[in-house]
Amino acid sequence: MVVANQKGGVGKTTTTVNLAASLALHGGRVLVIDLDPQGNASTALGIDHHAEVPSIYDVLIDSRPLSEVVQPVPDVEGLFCAPATIDLAGAEIELVSLVARESRLERAILAYEQPLDYILIDCPPSLGLLTVNALVAGAEVLIPIQCEYYALEGLGQLLRNVDLVRGHLNPNLHVSTILLTMYDGRTRLASQVADEVRSHFGEEVLRTSIPRSVRISEAPSYGQTVLTYDPGSSGALSYLEAAREIALRGAGVAYDAQHAHMGAHSEQSMVEGIQ
Ligand code: ATP
Ligand code: MG
Repeated sequence: MVVANQKGGVGKTTTTVNLAASLALHGGRVLVIDLDPQGNASTALGIDHHAEVPSIYDVLIDSRPLSEVVQPVPDVEGLFCAPATIDLAGAEIELVSLVARESRLERAILAYEQPLDYILIDCPPSLGLLTVNALVAGAEVLIPIQCEYYALEGLGQLLRNVDLVRGHLNPNLHVSTILLTMYDGRTRLASQVADEVRSHFGEEVLRTSIPRSVRISEAPSYGQTVLTYDPGSSGALSYLEAAREIALRGAGVAYDAQHAHMGAHSEQSMVEGIQ
């Protein structure tokens, strides 16, 4: 699942790490690939990513096997991360002259033999070759949309890029999931943006939206996801719920409002959904 939106600061990284942790806590084996030179996903997962650490840069540029850079995430069983180091900032340019420059990540993933239920790829806020590598490697795209005034601006460009990659390099790629982030139910603007997104995209929009939450924004400074930092917070619960929707959808189970209120029994079906 490619988490992409070329707009900066909309919640790509936050969504990647917290959804990944939610899926892992429900029993899945999940790999996060940090494809952003900022390395925010690596930081948020408590993964060492100083310049000497083997990273996704080595995978893309030097064809190093993915298995040599993947690290287990402390605190969350079943969660793994391929970190990004600052080297990756140069990769966008270095890739240009390499053979199969758009499909190097795809090749690396295909050669990775560890069993996994999900791979989530955190993209940088641009539509360059790093994001193209993610789109070529991925099966589906998740677009986080921040409930703010300019939220939909630039989205057309992202959707056209997805179409281009589908047409030329990855025929199965599709936008499967839209997630509304930083939703503040007290403002009319947030609900207007949410309505507009829902009427435009329909079924792809998860019913769960992610509230604006201080706990969510604090967690990365402790090298944690909100799921371990404050498991009972509204932010943690909403990411768990979003993960449940995704898992049930993946298992071909229609999601209905009832699921939002199911108890222990539903945890079981969630796990079945993942496996
Ligand atoms: P970039 O484009 O730079 O990669 P991004 O799209 O990955 O940004 P994030 O880094 O996930 O966005 O989020 C941007 C900022 O908003 C961060 O400081 C993050 O902590 C904060 N943030 C994200 N989601 C929430 C939320 N639900 N509530 C409060 N703060 C949030
Ligand atoms: Mg980010």
